[in-house]
Parts: sequence; structure tokens; C-alpha cells
Amino acid sequence: MTIVPEGAIADLLTREAAFAAVEQVFADMASGSARNFPVVREAMPTEDALYGFKGGVAPGILGLKAGGYWPHNLDKNGLINHQSTVFLFDPETGRVSAMVGGNLLTALRTAAASAVSIKHLARLDAKVLGMIGAGHQAKFQLRAALEQRDFDKVIAWNLHPEMLPGLAEVAAETGIPFEPVDLSGMIAADAIITITSSFAPTLLAEHVSPGTHIACMGTDTIGKQEVEAALLGKATVFCDEVAQSTTLGEAQHAVSNGLISADAITQIGAVINGTHPGRTSNREITLFDGTGVGLQDLAVAGSIVDVAVANGTATIVPI
Ligand code: NAD
Repeated sequence: MTIVPEGAIADLLTREAAFAAVEQVFADMASGSARNFPVVREAMPTEDALYGFKGGVAPGILGLKAGGYWPHNLDKNGLINHQSTVFLFDPETGRVSAMVGGNLLTALRTAAASAVSIKHLARLDAKVLGMIGAGHQAKFQLRAALEQRDFDKVIAWNLHPEMLPGLAEVAAETGIPFEPVDLSGMIAADAIITITSSFAPTLLAEHVSPGTHIACMGTDTIGKQEVEAALLGKATVFCDEVAQSTTLGEAQHAVSNGLISADAITQIGAVINGTHPGRTSNREITLFDGTGVGLQDLAVAGSIVDVAVANGTATIVPI
């Protein structure tokens, strides 16, 4: 069994590798060769914590991510509030094959998902990237998104503006100008990422120009919402997995309001595989509902294990 602890992940996982693994597993999900298992998410008796499992099976991949959210971690013991670990198994035998730290992995695989959506759905001439949210995930999102198009400006809004300098630093790393804006300023964006823990819409349909691509990445739980449901009614809607999108993703609200139906939502893997055309005009609004599926974690963990074994840094314990 290969063990890759959290502290080793930064040296083993690149944004490029996370992107490639996520793009491939989205394609496999759409072609029917990969599927996610129902998610388990339970309240814990102490620390107001939530804990659960996300699992799945794909060609050469079987496993689960176990983890959740402990809201008092940072204050009490300096650990980040989200904690997770990936377990991989041999799909031929069921024998455990690896245990991989899942915290940095989660941020990189989530950023890879929105980056995959920008690659396949944003206009090729997109220049202005809009960010809504400036927390832990937002910085990863921004770095990965900037690699997908020739962006020449980042604009950003966050409910807590004191967090925006963290995003400005990421833009500065790449030499791209950064400007905080009001929500109405998002009208200038060609691509927008929303990555907040909001339970009420902030981005409204009137804030979005024709031709924009929006990646909604923060809504991963029943009740959360980042964008006005009417925006999904105006957009061509894509997702990682339809079942999650309509139950706990951004589309949950538009579907329950009757603004869109589940069968109007396309898995992005279909665009990757070429069985759906994706964007068909420069004035179309495309929206990717990235809810976060277990197979993203497993695919990226598998690539980490491969690198660790290949470069001799893997800790292998007998089982
Ligand atoms: P964080 O706590 O570091 O940041 C939270 C962000 O949300 C900040 O920008 C904060 O200002 C903003 N915010 C908080 N309350 C708000 C409100 N009422 N209205 C608008 N904005 C508000 O969290 P994070 O780790 O960056 O995660 C952000 C979101 O992404 C969470 O909802 C998390 O569950 C989700 N997430 C999704 C995936 C996925 O695969 N889709 C993966 C990881 C995290």
C-alpha cells in the first residue's frame, strides 16, 4: 500500500496533472465508463462537524474520499477546517492500494474543474476574468483559470472586501492587472468564477453580458446558492454530474423553480468527447455547475501515486 501524506502533495501534484486527470475522468463519466457512488454526508455529534464519503469507479480507478468540515479547527488547533483523505483500491481485487492526503488535492481538483470548463466553453477571445469570492479556494481557481485563455485583466468582488488583496497577489504573480469592482462591474467579464459559501444569490442575470462563460463552483450543498436562478434560464447549462447538479449544485434552484429541466443540463464530458457542440455562438451564455464529484479526487490521487512511485518518493507499506 502506497502512502502519500498531505505534506508531500505539493511536490507531487502540478496544476497540469490535476487538469489532465479531471478532464479525462469527466470524459469517462459522460461516455458511461465511470460513475460516482451516492454521497454520504452526516452531521457529527461533536464540534459541529460534517463528515462524509464520496466514491466512484472508473477505468483503473476505485476508491473514496473520506472527509468533511470541522468549523473550529483553525481557532482550536491551527488545522484547516476542511480535512480529507483519499483511499484507493485495486479495481480487479478490491485490495487497498493507496492512502493519499486530500486537502491540497481538493483545492487543485476543484480549480481544475472550472479550468476545464473555461477551456471547453469560454469564448476563445475572452480577455476579462471575473472572480466572485476570495477565500481559500478562490486563489487556486484564479491561478488555474488564467492558464486557459489570454486574459489581460482580473476583476473581483467579494462580500468581505478585506479578503481581496489575497486574490490581487495571485494576479500580480502573473503580471495581470487586478481591479475590485461592484457586482454590476461584472458586466465587463468574459468569464466569471463564483466560489463562495453563500446561501443567497449574489450574481444576478443583469450583471452578466451575452457571450460570458460562468463557472459556479461554490454551491456543493442543499440550500447554497451563488447566482440568480433566472441566469440559468438564460444560459446553456453544463455540469460535472447531472444528479449532483440538480440536487445540491447551483441548478437545484432553477430546477425546483421550473426554470430549467434536468434533461436540459449537459455533462461537460460530452463536450470533451465531442458528442455535444458546447458553445455555439459568441453571444451565448454558458454556465458550468461544478459541484465536485468523488471521481475527480480519485483520478487526481491516482496520478499523485503514479508520480510518487515513479520518482521513488512513495512510502510503501506491506499489507
Ligand atoms: P472560505 O471560507 O475560504 O471562503 C468563503 C468565501 O465565501 C469568501 O470569499 C467569503 O467572503 C464568501 N462568503 C461567505 N459568506 C458569504 C455570503 N453570505 N455571501 C457571499 N459570499 C460569502 O471557503 P472556500 O474553501 O474558499 O470554499 C468556498 C466554497 O466552495 C464553499 O461553499 C465550499 O463548500 C465550496 N467548495 C466547492 C468545491 C467543489 O468541488 N465544487 C470544492 C471545495 C469547496
